[in-house]
Amino acid sequence: MKYIDEFQDPGPAARLLDDIRASVTGPWALMEVCGGQTHSIIRHGIDQLLPDEVELIHGPGCPVCVTPLEVIDKALAIASRPEVVFCSFGDMLRVPGTGRDLFQVRSEGGDVRVVYSPLDALRIAGENPDREVVFFGIGFETTAPPNAMTVHQARRRGIRNFSLLVSHVRVPPAIEAIMQSPDCRVQGFLAAGHVCSVMGTREYPELAERFRVPVVVTGFEPLDILEGVRRTVRQLERGEHTVDNAYPRAVRPEGNPAARAMLDDVFEVADRAWRGIGVIPDSGWRLSARYRDHDAEHRFRVGDIATLEPAECRSGEVLQGLLKPHECEAFGTTCTPRTPLGATMVSSEGACAAYYLYRRLDLPAHRESAARPVPVPAPAAVAPADATVTDRKDGSVV
Ligand code: SF4
Repeated sequence: MKYIDEFQDPGPAARLLDDIRASVTGPWALMEVCGGQTHSIIRHGIDQLLPDEVELIHGPGCPVCVTPLEVIDKALAIASRPEVVFCSFGDMLRVPGTGRDLFQVRSEGGDVRVVYSPLDALRIAGENPDREVVFFGIGFETTAPPNAMTVHQARRRGIRNFSLLVSHVRVPPAIEAIMQSPDCRVQGFLAAGHVCSVMGTREYPELAERFRVPVVVTGFEPLDILEGVRRTVRQLERGEHTVDNAYPRAVRPEGNPAARAMLDDVFEVADRAWRGIGVIPDSGWRLSARYRDHDAEHRFRVGDIATLEPAECRSGEVLQGLLKPHECEAFGTTCTPRTPLGATMVSSEGACAAYYLYRRLDLPAHRESAARPVPVPAPAAVAPADATVTDRKDGSVV
């Protein structure tokens, strides 16, 4: 398939790995800030192919995983109301809130529907003027523009029974929070290519300079990730810390101005809680005052719901790169994709689910082996029988 096969070619992958091995002295710890990249890294065994001097830390880049438990509980409260049609991408239905999930709300009679676009939810609202239609708007700079555009359309078309439950987050403040943590081990970042295709690269030079870390915009296929690693390692070896775009086929420095304009029109920057991490200042968006009528949290008065995260789940440490999934005591025992204790085990982009899905079940802590496998990206492993993590085909969030 064009734009896929050529970026999974074993020949260039082997050459990139040779280049990395030849230049690295390390040790270096790099963080990928996207769940899609985490999934690709584990699926293709890229972390095992890299030399021991290069460690990949899986950052807080899965949109489902960073959505706080209290937002799930707000969704459950709204979806349980008889007048509501609650619409969501598929992967949010299995994320456990306190005591239940959206699937259970549906089994108890709630009108919970999986949609593939926020515009589907707007269409449902237009066709059902006597119902309240709510769309669950979560995710990063990638999903925020279409959700903003849908609210803009609702207002323009006078569809008053449509509202958005918003939990949108922004990557640069998360990088800042990670770098300010006293436990931070990260020395370089693979920035998420799809986020930068919307926002451009203008937010990163200040971070690279302040924290003296290279930031390399990176794509999602094996060759993209290896090229991102290669460029980051090269900067680290040279003592450099600049912003570099290793994903130019999708990312321009200015990003997508139309999408950014829509974000500026509909949303305003606000403090946001990140699951397992806590509140990060200015790390997300909420609907601006002009669109407050379409704010589900405001409309259904669920703003007071506050929930503590379960103590046994260590996803906060996983999301900050302080713990590898298999180092959690619950991994693969009391916590599996069928019985997830935390969101990082629910979403296919969650680090815990990726480790489980691709059989990273009994690895010792830190680097698994000094032995170097054949430098060819591995095909997808066979999923365990009970691996039921959701997939983008089910309408998951990017
Ligand atoms: S394995 Fe389960 S309990 Fe442990 S951090 Fe991951 S989601 Fe949480």
